[in-house]
Amino acid sequence: MPMIRAEDATKDYDVIIVGSGAGGGQMAFTLTLAGIKCLMLEAGRGYDPVAETPMFQRRDQAPLLGNSTPDKEFGFLDATVDGGWQMPAEPYTQASDKPEQQFWWWRARMMGGRTNHWGRISLRNGPYDFKPKSRDGLGLDWPVDYEDVEPYYTKVEQLIGVYGSNEGLENTPNSPDGVLQPPPKARAGELLAQKHGKTLGIPIIPIHRAVLTQTLDADRLPAVLFPGNAWAQKIVGDSMRARAACFWATPCGRGCSTGANYQSTTVHLPPALATGNLDIVANAHVREVLVGNNGKARGVLFVDKTTGQDVQVNANAVVLAASSGETVRIMLNSKSTLFPDGIANGSGLVGKYIMDTVGTSLQGQIPALENLPPYNEDGAGGSHFYAPWWLYQQAQALGFPRGYHIEMGATRGMPGGGNPLPDDLGNGAYGSRYKQEARRYYGSFMGFACRGEMIPNDNCFAELDNNVSDTWGIPVLKWHWQWAEHEQRMCDHAELTFRELIETMGGTVRSVTNGRNRIEPGGKIIHEVGGAIMGTAAATSVCNGYNQTWEVPNLFLVDGTPFPSNADKNPTLTIMALAWRAGDYLVDQSRRGLL
Ligand SMILES: Cc1cc2nc3c(=O)[nH]c(=O)nc-3n(C[C@H](O)[C@H](O)[C@H](O)COP(=O)(O)OP(=O)(O)OC[C@H]3O[C@@H](n4cnc5c(N)ncnc54)[C@H](O)[C@@H]3O)c2cc1C
Ligand code: SF4
Repeated sequence: MPMIRAEDATKDYDVIIVGSGAGGGQMAFTLTLAGIKCLMLEAGRGYDPVAETPMFQRRDQAPLLGNSTPDKEFGFLDATVDGGWQMPAEPYTQASDKPEQQFWWWRARMMGGRTNHWGRISLRNGPYDFKPKSRDGLGLDWPVDYEDVEPYYTKVEQLIGVYGSNEGLENTPNSPDGVLQPPPKARAGELLAQKHGKTLGIPIIPIHRAVLTQTLDADRLPAVLFPGNAWAQKIVGDSMRARAACFWATPCGRGCSTGANYQSTTVHLPPALATGNLDIVANAHVREVLVGNNGKARGVLFVDKTTGQDVQVNANAVVLAASSGETVRIMLNSKSTLFPDGIANGSGLVGKYIMDTVGTSLQGQIPALENLPPYNEDGAGGSHFYAPWWLYQQAQALGFPRGYHIEMGATRGMPGGGNPLPDDLGNGAYGSRYKQEARRYYGSFMGFACRGEMIPNDNCFAELDNNVSDTWGIPVLKWHWQWAEHEQRMCDHAELTFRELIETMGGTVRSVTNGRNRIEPGGKIIHEVGGAIMGTAAATSVCNGYNQTWEVPNLFLVDGTPFPSNADKNPTLTIMALAWRAGDYLVDQSRRGLL
């Protein structure tokens, strides 16, 4: 991937974009195709998804058969070349010693950020999700409606390619006809869950994931996305033609060198670079946003990690897309006489209202899935089916206000390196009997996971820890965290539901649950959003409905920071839709001389 050196980023750019993941990638795509000269700064190293993706390696070709290690939580062959729960050069601290009041912060430091390895579950927020406070009086409403974001959901789905179906369920939006790609068929376990889910009133339907089940229509879509712009159509068409359809055989978490699934490095950055309007500097760890006497952002100061030197770069506008926590950190560290508490932080709200997704899970063993004949059920590396939240009308009776969706795992894909036969089921089997028992049980386990909405609360926030700095002398983040009773009750309900589902399927629950500790720690689902929320007024929010900070009109935040709520829908599709919308707005404002 062509990149420039830090010392060559000397010209004045139109826009500096910090971060190359979902938000930064989308912004670079939108702006460069509108003719805007951009500089992207990425703290991680460059990454070539074609040359570096180990998607065809077998487990036996990797140390420890490719299994997880403390350093490689998602397995040795995982696409994330640098990052994880802990990064020695960039620590973080906790305000409390109590584990339940701590936040797990997962970061990727590489070109493309977390998009090289994410679940690719791509759900639209529904109309209720943008106005949660209006529905039940809790949390915060967004300053935008579903209708404002809908055209951008459609554009993003058309660009990245999302499979799924339109089911017309409550607060689970359909996409316009012809936008979604056909979903893969359900796996055996998913079909069984669907059948028994019906008796319990739980709708189990195709999930939406950013994986191509067929090649993109490169002759038609570019004209839909860029009407009347032959130049943009050619670039985007060429990029679409370079992507293959999924061939259903390799784990998506290793990345996808064929471009069949969405990664910023295969979908957003190549066309942005092809415009000739994008320079990228890797290993560029942004320290702060610089402000001019006029109160506007004038550039960025970053550490060139290859030399340890600070480098200043200048632009007419700055876009932060470093992921929620890191954008908060950069903003709080951008202190000046005009902004002594951090840039655009006159409200004091930068760092406040950070949210994650509510997570809990339960596993079961299902005899009906035992002894299935071996057949190729690999499919796309992730779920094919899921259950959207189905009890919107019963919130009062349930005792918790918001919903969760159910993700499920059931597969007879390539076995991993671990023991395929749990000791308690194996009963000491040995030799040919061991093989027989392993074949019997393999693929008969199913996991059900709750992914639920958290309501923002005053106890969940991040601030600078002025006693601890990272390797480059930048204060680190200190996390404060506390789940509320709403989220705990949601997990109680999810556990009962999963138990009922497993037992209705004729199975038995296997995992041990642990009372109130069943809720995953904050951050563990890796969906952190919030920290610089959007709203209708400068006193009560950090940015407006176009991701533009109220106080610094040429500073935009296009990762999860502006989210005032975190619906049960996984956040990344919404990050991209809002980033595209913010990009169009930035171009419009800039052309009118308003930035
Ligand atoms: C295992 C896993 C599974 C997931 N599954 C899903 C899913 O199924 N669906 C879903 O919607 N979401 C999922 N997510 C979350 C999803 O990856 C994120 O929501 C999304 O990537 C956020 O995009 P972003 O642009 O804000 O941040 P990122 O993609 O993390 O990109 C941020 C980039 O900014 C860079 N950066 C950070 N600090 C600085 C700095 N100071 N200077 C310069 N650059 C900096 C980082 O190195 C990084 O490359 C998953 C994440 C993980 C890890
Ligand atoms: S399963 Fe499909 S989308 Fe996933 S890595 Fe393999 S080819 Fe790519």
